[in-house]
Amino acid sequence: MRHFRLTVATFAAVALTIATPDSAAAQRALKVYISVDMEGISGVNGSNQTGPAGAEYGRARKLMAEDANAAIRGAFEGGATDVLVNDSHGGQRNILPEDLDPRARLISHSFKRHGMMEGLDSTFDAVMFVGYHAKAGSPRGLFAHTGSGVLVDVQVNGRSVGEGGMNSILAVWHGVPVVMVTGDDVAVAQQKEVTPAVRGVVVKRAINSRAVELRPLADARRDIQQGAREAMVSARRFSPERLRGYIVRIEYHDPAFVEVATALQEVHAVSPTAIEFTRETMPEAYRLIRVLYRFITVD
Ligand SMILES: [Zn+2]
Repeated sequence: MRHFRLTVATFAAVALTIATPDSAAAQRALKVYISVDMEGISGVNGSNQTGPAGAEYGRARKLMAEDANAAIRGAFEGGATDVLVNDSHGGQRNILPEDLDPRARLISHSFKRHGMMEGLDSTFDAVMFVGYHAKAGSPRGLFAHTGSGVLVDVQVNGRSVGEGGMNSILAVWHGVPVVMVTGDDVAVAQQKEVTPAVRGVVVKRAINSRAVELRPLADARRDIQQGAREAMVSARRFSPERLRGYIVRIEYHDPAFVEVATALQEVHAVSPTAIEFTRETMPEAYRLIRVLYRFITVD
């Protein structure tokens, strides 16, 4: 028995020696989740690019794939073994699968309960936000908004959050760090307020909510690739940080939304234009936030 054990140990040692020169063999699996929005993509600078009816939409969806690909390349160079991309803009069918790095999987279409974070769970080691934008009400920040045009602000447990902020709370709930954000300078600065350790890649400078100074595309993409590669050193899931409850306050531009939203028993009006609700978990809160800004129509 003893002899047999020794034989197994010897065999294992030999196998290890053979495997060692290829460091990838000794590496653990690293899963990376990339959520890609459009307003903060390199080269995107006009509202006729961000929706399917726009004359320049075809160009913008290619630009979106290019920034996503730069992040994917960097992630793999930094040790990722599995990359999932979630198309997170508008109808969420912007990135053409044939334009995406063939090593990555792609989630597409907006009919998903967790929207910009669909598919994220506690098996991932890192989250990256690509093409993100400033939150609603930011005086500067290209196409600043949160969720959709109907919201003035969203607060979670008393803190005003944009899309990056909300998505970060959900990532932390799953125990996955947000390691990189790309977008204009305002979006990157706002993300750093929420997740200070995040690596930020500024691809353009917002002059106001419409005008922007674009960096050369090749430079921006090189920096995204490098940023993603370097950010992988922080790719390490931790024990999920879960609060006892999530109090959400949503302020709308139009009081009609409050009238519709309060038809749900747990949603209360706290002012003529604002509602509040409480959920035990962040995924539950996130799902209801999404219903309240996306699936209510007031014409
Ligand atoms: Zn967005």
